[in-house]
Amino acid sequence: MSANAPITQDVLTIPRKLPAAADGRQNLVGLTREGLREALIAAGTPEKQAKMRVGQIWQWIYHWGVRDFDAMTNLSKDCRAQLGQRFVIEIPEIVSRQVSADGTRKYLVRIAGGHEVETVYIPEEDRGTLCISSQVGCTLTCSFCHTGTQKLVRNLTAAEIVGQVMVARDDLGEWPEPGVGTGEAGPRLLSNIVLMGMGEPLYNFEAVRDAMKIAMDGEGIALSRRRITLSTSGVVPEIARTAEEIGCMLAVSFHATTDDVRDRLVPINKKWPIAELLDALRAYPKLSNSERITFEYVMLKGVNDSDEDARRLVRLISGIPAKINLIPFNEWPGAPYERSDWARIEAFADIVYKAGYASPIRTPRGEDIMAACGQLKSATERARKSRAQIEAEAGLG
Ligand code: SAH
Ligand code: SF4
Repeated sequence: MSANAPITQDVLTIPRKLPAAADGRQNLVGLTREGLREALIAAGTPEKQAKMRVGQIWQWIYHWGVRDFDAMTNLSKDCRAQLGQRFVIEIPEIVSRQVSADGTRKYLVRIAGGHEVETVYIPEEDRGTLCISSQVGCTLTCSFCHTGTQKLVRNLTAAEIVGQVMVARDDLGEWPEPGVGTGEAGPRLLSNIVLMGMGEPLYNFEAVRDAMKIAMDGEGIALSRRRITLSTSGVVPEIARTAEEIGCMLAVSFHATTDDVRDRLVPINKKWPIAELLDALRAYPKLSNSERITFEYVMLKGVNDSDEDARRLVRLISGIPAKINLIPFNEWPGAPYERSDWARIEAFADIVYKAGYASPIRTPRGEDIMAACGQLKSATERARKSRAQIEAEAGLG
């Protein structure tokens, strides 16, 4: 969307649901099949029946989107009552939803403890991508990223991560109708997931892995691993594990072509510099059986956007099957950088393209509602700022 398109923000505040079960019942959302099996056995399900029960409950939760045990009609009444005493099926609560002029939806989602994270749905002609968060805030402090200015509050649980997918499917009305198989009703509204919201997914590995395994399970949400992209700032020791234990597509926040500049932009580079990162990336496609890696490269005026940078980038990644995603910098209040000019971005893209790499320029989406890459930051944090600052951020100052 161009910066001067009219902003027709539709702000919808969704009424609160009843308070979450704070009575000690266990949430079944976010458990792997094995975890669900163990929970059912601990609650008295005979081991012999456990596998079948897991299959039934799994389908109700992840295929049909059911939240109430009473709706699980292939279970006996007694069984449903027992489940209801021990367990809940609970996902995060939508606090508000904003719809951008370009159709992008930004959800503010509340999780246990009163914390909030943002989830963004980006509709496109032939698909729809959900950008989900893995942490409240981030421990890393990339200097161009709004989330990086917010301290890490906590890691999300697997339930809260896959719960964002379920929240979006609720809002899009995308649970299948009885008698209609997944995908038979036409192209999916929510067809892709990117772990590109708040937080560093590889600093919350187990929860991200379990949540993505649930999203990929063929008897539920059933998204193929090729439709899930995990973006990391470069947590080198977890990259091979991502290939082996998740097997999704990988994107890396590369952003610079010398250690000197990358140290300033993506400070984790001081720990795992470019050469080490590239070694890990070189091994990824084979380990995960995926075609290529996405290199994300934020275009910052006068910082990393020269022709020389483009040529150096191409040399560095030589031999790695790759696509270079150029991201025009998305501004946020107080950001210390400016977006590169379009002509500069195009010249950079051209050099990369001529070297044989796809070099799409990512169209900023949802800028008018601060939903674009790197603009997310939860309102919990905003609330702590001064009134003047909030007004200034909202353009009222
Ligand atoms: N923490 C992960 C994923 C979240 S960010 C990571 O860093 O990879 C998703 C992408 O948006 C990353 O490539 C990130 O570097 C980029 N990004 C962050 N702030 C941005 C901004 N203000 N403008 C454009 N892209 C930004
Ligand atoms: Fe964290 Fe990613 Fe932002 Fe860096 S770019 S501060 S890793 S969310």
